[in-house]
Amino acid sequence: MDNLDAWLRKSLDTIKKAHWYRQVKTIASPPGPVIQIQGKTLINFASNDYLGLAHHPQVRAAAIAAIEAQGTGTTGSRLVSGHRSLHDRLETKLAQLKQTEAALVYSSGYLANLGAIAAVVGPRDLILGDAYNHSSLKNGGKLSGATCMDYRHGDLAHLEMLLQSHRSSYRRCLITTDSVFSMDGDLAPLPQIQALAQQYEAVLLVDEAHGTGVLGKNGAGAVAHYGCDRTNLIQVGTLSKALGSLGGYVAGSQTLIEFLKNRSAPWIYTTALSPADTAAAIAAIDLLAQEPQRLTHLTHHREYLQSQLPPSSLFPSDSAILCIKMPSPSQALALSQALQNQGFFVPAIRPPTVPTSRLRLSLMATHTQAQLEQLLHHLRPLLSALNEDPV
Ligand SMILES: *Cc1c(COP(=O)(O)O)cnc(C)c1O
Repeated sequence: MDNLDAWLRKSLDTIKKAHWYRQVKTIASPPGPVIQIQGKTLINFASNDYLGLAHHPQVRAAAIAAIEAQGTGTTGSRLVSGHRSLHDRLETKLAQLKQTEAALVYSSGYLANLGAIAAVVGPRDLILGDAYNHSSLKNGGKLSGATCMDYRHGDLAHLEMLLQSHRSSYRRCLITTDSVFSMDGDLAPLPQIQALAQQYEAVLLVDEAHGTGVLGKNGAGAVAHYGCDRTNLIQVGTLSKALGSLGGYVAGSQTLIEFLKNRSAPWIYTTALSPADTAAAIAAIDLLAQEPQRLTHLTHHREYLQSQLPPSSLFPSDSAILCIKMPSPSQALALSQALQNQGFFVPAIRPPTVPTSRLRLSLMATHTQAQLEQLLHHLRPLLSALNEDPV
């Protein structure tokens, strides 16, 4: 009797019955605003490569040069035999970008969140997180053993109520939030959250996965956009979205980084970031300042689409993520499929990932105005048909 497969078959059947079953799609072209997917050429509105740096000649050249000089693998963890001067250079650049004393790179953004949260708080502590936080923040909370409570999305009054009722029963308190919410595109009210953190002696951890490269001067992120105080602030992010590479980081005080190097298991017990990924991220950060027009285009693209689509059909967004409301999961799927037939890759995001269905457009600096106009041309009739025939 094959217990394992029997258990898993049963679970998979449940997943399929709930229409939650998921499968990979093969992309057969380099990253960009036009991709080949399952034999079709589509205009791509599903990439996190917001600035178009994942295929930039300078970024590719830096990665290739690093491989030629240093090989493909780092052969050890940072504290044993994996540390290279490239890591120091990247961490210095990240600290400059984030205006912090120091930074530390992890093998992914997911690990950076697990590693930072579980190091800073433990079983005697409290974590208050936005209900829409990324999976890595939620699982970081679980890993830490702290008591985790969610406040309603963006709801400062609810956050304050939880602080009032519970803060004094715990040793430390960490508030966690995405800066740009990955499935919605809206921003967390960071200055107000920081004021509450200050008032209740809590520390704020902000995940800039979708803010870095997209907000603030030179794409420094939402923290820079709002001009947040860097004290009692932990900035986490990824190298794998607007920076076009792979890896994650934590930026903050020298003391925080020194502590993580001694207490963050997901950093200590994993192999150091590869030379290619490290060099690519360095080149991408340099490009933020060298080619600021990329961010200007990206912002323009969002504002243009917002000006052209009915405001009532859109979720609020100040980022590269723009979501269109869909009345039901089946209609979200049908519109995504219709757009795909017309040459556009626009994913439908449905429960249980999000509470309400939507089409999620990820914009890129390298989209052309003509591509946006083509999208609108095909999207408008589909949206009007929805309104005439609501289900
Ligand atoms: C993508 C993402 C991460 C994880 O980053 P990776 O480098 O891909 O592991 C963490 N937080 C948020 C909000 C994300 O969107």
